Amino acid sequence: MIANYHTHTYRCGHAEGGDEEYVRQAVESGLTILGFSDHTPYDYFDAEPRSRPIRMKPEELPDYARSVHDLAEKYRDRIEIHLGVEAEYYPKYFPRLLEMLRENGVEYMILGQHFLGNEIGEPYSGRPTLDRKLLERYVSQTIEAMETGLFSCFAHPDLLRYIGSGKVYEQEMRRLCRAALQAEVPLEINLLGLREGRHYPNERFWRVAAEEGNPVILGCDAHRPEHVADVKSEETARALAERLGLSLLDTLPLRNIGV
Ligand SMILES: [Zn+2]
Ligand SMILES: [Zn+2]
Repeated sequence: MIANYHTHTYRCGHAEGGDEEYVRQAVESGLTILGFSDHTPYDYFDAEPRSRPIRMKPEELPDYARSVHDLAEKYRDRIEIHLGVEAEYYPKYFPRLLEMLRENGVEYMILGQHFLGNEIGEPYSGRPTLDRKLLERYVSQTIEAMETGLFSCFAHPDLLRYIGSGKVYEQEMRRLCRAALQAEVPLEINLLGLREGRHYPNERFWRVAAEEGNPVILGCDAHRPEHVADVKSEETARALAERLGLSLLDTLPLRNIGV
């Protein structure tokens, strides 16, 4: 692996280690590009509470941006560092989110749709469901997200855990894969899912992606410094990609979000 664009920090409340430890680990393990993409702050300005404890608070964003910029400068001769966020697409709050990210010089976004709608009152996308409507909503909402042209990749696109008919799942996910191809958004095989034995990567999903010819990137989804050098999960992911005939990218073309 020469590049990883999916890295969290302690600010999200469920990751550990100092920012610099992630960089040192990345340099040591031979990465040439490290992208920080902590869970984006979201300001639900009209809701109570205004932010939720699953991500950094809006007021923490300047410190996050400064820290990543300082590290990029300090390590410039050893590794290329980028400032990003992992963001859900919530139509109601998205314009304000973009403003906030641009004000803070965030370079790129990866899509991670952990909830549907505008998050509040919605179930976690990874909860098992037999509800076809949820699957359809997930696919439609993430297609809308990809069509903004602002996301550099789609993290764990197979997060939605539909446990109903395989035929329905495949049909909907084919819709997602085709739209991703059209919008030129690479799909991410998530190494955290492998590391923790989660329900993703879902082989049914990746079989469809292989058939559709989607470009694929590996993402560490690091929540601890040592996760940026997770060789075991990387090997498992590469074996899966090879077995299914997926085409892996080494690096991502980062999409400017309009800073
Ligand atoms: Zn996380
Ligand atoms: Zn993540």
